[in-house]
Amino acid sequence: MKPAPLQYVRPASVAEAVDALEEHGGMARVLAGGQSLVPMLGMRLMRPSALVDINDLGAELGKIDGRGEETVIGALVRYSALETSPVIAERLPLLQEVVRHIGDRQVRNRGTIGGAVAQSDPTGEMPLVCLTLGARVVARSVRGERTIPIEEFFEGSYANALEPEELLVGLRFPLAPVHCRFFERGRKHNDFALLSIAVAGSPDADGRWSGVRIGLGGVNDTPVLAEAAAARLEGRTWDTATIAEAAELALEAADPPDDVRASAEYRNHLLPIQLRRVLTDLAGAEPWKT
Ligand SMILES: Cc1cc2nc3c(=O)[nH]c(=O)nc-3n(C[C@H](O)[C@H](O)[C@H](O)COP(=O)(O)OP(=O)(O)OC[C@H]3O[C@@H](n4cnc5c(N)ncnc54)[C@H](O)[C@@H]3O)c2cc1C
Repeated sequence: MKPAPLQYVRPASVAEAVDALEEHGGMARVLAGGQSLVPMLGMRLMRPSALVDINDLGAELGKIDGRGEETVIGALVRYSALETSPVIAERLPLLQEVVRHIGDRQVRNRGTIGGAVAQSDPTGEMPLVCLTLGARVVARSVRGERTIPIEEFFEGSYANALEPEELLVGLRFPLAPVHCRFFERGRKHNDFALLSIAVAGSPDADGRWSGVRIGLGGVNDTPVLAEAAAARLEGRTWDTATIAEAAELALEAADPPDDVRASAEYRNHLLPIQLRRVLTDLAGAEPWKT
């Protein structure tokens, strides 16, 4: 099928883009990489009054900037740029690893970090890694700019805290630990994950961990942090018993769906087993090698 009739707007600046979103009173949609939006339009799962195509806004939205304690990534930065960026390799190695699990080459050449976070797919790798790394979402409208902590951003399956007239302009990441791991189980390569796990933390010279964050995908209607599990690991060395306890505590954050990919029972079975393996691997304390 083809999309329902709509207006096409191609702004030359962020200011023009937010004006266009305002003008359409929340009925317009932003077009970034189009990897999720275009199929949805074709299937008429949505009928916006207009598309606001932001692909000419690379000068404002297409930069990766490592400044002091913060790494700022523009909304229009494509997955392929994240894959090859030396700044991301050095400062956010988990993000670089995770992006390689998304789609195929064509999807990664077009898809954008802003589009993936705005899409808020509960099984998407990008929402999961942004949550695990404690990013902040920067949104702009004609009323100005605001910053939303990622922990408050995802509100449900494909739902988030962005207002319909707001443009996601970028993500701000704090300095991330270099010790991190990512695990994903799908039915086949390129399929949506039925379970994904991202872990980050820093061991000190005595092997005690701090800043532990464990993100889970595919086990709830948004990506979630396994807070009880992370608390069990914080400030300790990770022996086998501690890891096993943390892996069981992760179930507190899970309320998985039954869907075509897997039953809730299977996901609940898989989560502690895989998390235990990921933590055991990370406890070897080799930093991420890219
Ligand atoms: C074959 C295929 C395989 C895929 N595999 C995976 C996968 O393995 N894992 C995965 O996570 N994803 C996968 N995807 C989805 C892909 O990651 C999308 O690129 C991503 O979800 C959306 O990014 P985009 O830039 O293409 O956004 P678009 O499709 O352009 O937009 C997506 C949504 O976000 C909104 N939006 C986009 N940018 C902004 C912005 N700056 N401000 C406000 N709203 C905005 C749009 O209006 C739309 O509602 C796959 C897609 C395809 C086609």
